[in-house]
Amino acid sequence: MNCFQHPQKPAVGNCTYCGRGLCQDCTTVVDGKLSCRGTCQQETTRARRILAETEATTSQRKTIYETSSKVYQRSFVFFATIGILLIVLGIILLFSSAEVPGAILIGLGLVLLINGVGMGRAGKKMKALAAQVATQGTQS
Ligand SMILES: [Zn+2]
Ligand SMILES: [Zn+2]
Repeated sequence: MNCFQHPQKPAVGNCTYCGRGLCQDCTTVVDGKLSCRGTCQQETTRARRILAETEATTSQRKTIYETSSKVYQRSFVFFATIGILLIVLGIILLFSSAEVPGAILIGLGLVLLINGVGMGRAGKKMKALAAQVATQGTQS
């Protein structure tokens, strides 16, 4: 068998990736395996770089989701606490025959509480997404 690029030269081995015969000049080593210089060498390095980039974005995405999850959960605690406080204050005012400010406070408290619950849900969703990204990362 001769080199696929130099038919007059005998092949010293076969490319691991395309299987073509290679002479001394056309041979290079990628990941400890024989490869043709140029085409397969470039392809393998490119594939490896893409893989490395995908891994980087996966861990970045996981960090983003985890951070947002924490932020949402903190906001949930904050909004829910203020909301409940306002509702309690509103009820106290209602019983002290200050109905209008009491009702306003209860209304505000409810809005904050609903917002807080929404953020808590978003936080859980982000956490689930982070876990999903993590399992995808280990699977590939
Ligand atoms: Zn090749
Ligand atoms: Zn050659």
